[in-house]
Amino acid sequence: MRYISTRGQAPALNFEDVLLAGLATDGGLYVPEVLPHFTVEEISSWAGLAYHELAFKVMRPFIEGSIPDADFKQILQETYSMFAHQAVAPLRQLAGNEWVLELFHGPTLAFKDFALQLLGRLLDYILAKRNERVVIMGATSGDTGSAAIEGCRRCKNVDIFILHPHNRVSEVQRRQMTTILGDNIHNIAVEGNFDDCQEMVKASFADQAFLKGTRLVAVNSINWARIMAQIVYYFYAALQLGAPLRSLAFSVPTGNFGDIYAGYLARNMGLPINQLIVATNKNDILHRFMSSNHYDKEQLHPSLSPSMDIMVSSNFERLLFDLHGRNGLLVAELFANFKKTGKLRVADDRWLEVRKLFDSLTVSDEQTCQTIAEVYQQTSEVVDPHTAIGVMAARQCRRSLALSMVILGTAHPVKFPEAVLKAGVVKPIALPNHLANLLQRTEHYTILPNELAKIQAFVSQYGNRGKPL
Ligand SMILES: *Cc1c(COP(=O)(O)O)cnc(C)c1O
Repeated sequence: MRYISTRGQAPALNFEDVLLAGLATDGGLYVPEVLPHFTVEEISSWAGLAYHELAFKVMRPFIEGSIPDADFKQILQETYSMFAHQAVAPLRQLAGNEWVLELFHGPTLAFKDFALQLLGRLLDYILAKRNERVVIMGATSGDTGSAAIEGCRRCKNVDIFILHPHNRVSEVQRRQMTTILGDNIHNIAVEGNFDDCQEMVKASFADQAFLKGTRLVAVNSINWARIMAQIVYYFYAALQLGAPLRSLAFSVPTGNFGDIYAGYLARNMGLPINQLIVATNKNDILHRFMSSNHYDKEQLHPSLSPSMDIMVSSNFERLLFDLHGRNGLLVAELFANFKKTGKLRVADDRWLEVRKLFDSLTVSDEQTCQTIAEVYQQTSEVVDPHTAIGVMAARQCRRSLALSMVILGTAHPVKFPEAVLKAGVVKPIALPNHLANLLQRTEHYTILPNELAKIQAFVSQYGNRGKPL
């Protein structure tokens, strides 16, 4: 499988190189040159497969030529044996024909584990084969950092540096990162805010001299492997609900458009999905696009669903690429203009094309809490604020009551106690067994000033299993 850039100017790469690449050299994102397509017979024959077995069927075409089948099977089996539920991604019914796909049984209790547990293993496998080492740098306000560290903790060829804003992440989220100890794991608490952290990571990608030749790898959702891993659970849920003979709809709590884009790909690969709902909080640039063709950058609004607090949605570019007939030069033009003006529109006919499949809703903090309370009243289940946004959007935007509606349950409610409390739900929520003693574990992190040179000096000093690069 070959991968091409959404801006049409960068060289095509194979899977291995895409895994190790961040942005393409033309500023675009990598996508498969040709998307695999499965027939109804093929998809039907996968009913009843275990999660890791289905993952092999769905992802094999994407990695073809890079990893032998037997090795890939073993990697997948290891990856998904880390999940605390037998079904890996169980469906829980909320109401008639309405289901939550629970994607929070992984080590860090959010859906990002599905991709980052796999990414860590794939990186280590390919780096061992090439006899290379890499450094990962990432900025986090919560979920991504812990999932990335968990995914890389056993990697022999990866050193990971995660920057978080000092004193500005919740105790549970901080401890999920800082209690994972290892000579290749480095948590940096920056005396600044999340944007400062993100800017320093970006600047480090732009000028890598401090790495002395070691490659820098991205773990945010611009990395193709993350999208690829997320396609699988759409198939998994759909097969349980009668696909490919029955169609269904998904409602997806959305920030960077990675998770829902995976659903869009699943549909193009042959899964009968007839509606995708973009569920956002008040950071609703995608809702403004879906409802009025205005993709305009605005201020960041902190919310009760912090993992969806974004100003722009990086993966949206991948959808725009398809929408413009996969013409990279048109996409490059759109984004050159967006960079200048902060605004993006598409031609009416293209916009109408998107609206055939996608609907959207913005959900306020107040409505989020109301929905948590409503679901609790109806089912005695507590959903987290991100999932609640998906539930409300599903209920408002649903086109057909006859089709199953699946809401992606993106995080475990124990991670977001503030919203649950505000919703008036008093039921105590326990940490799952594997994290039960999280608040007693030893933490390790380094506090550094908000200065790029200091951060880079630190990476350079400890980037080779605690030794200098
Ligand atoms: C990352 C995240 C999201 C948003 O996913 P995108 O792929 O960025 O759209 C939603 N909910 C939770 C809990 C997350 O961690």
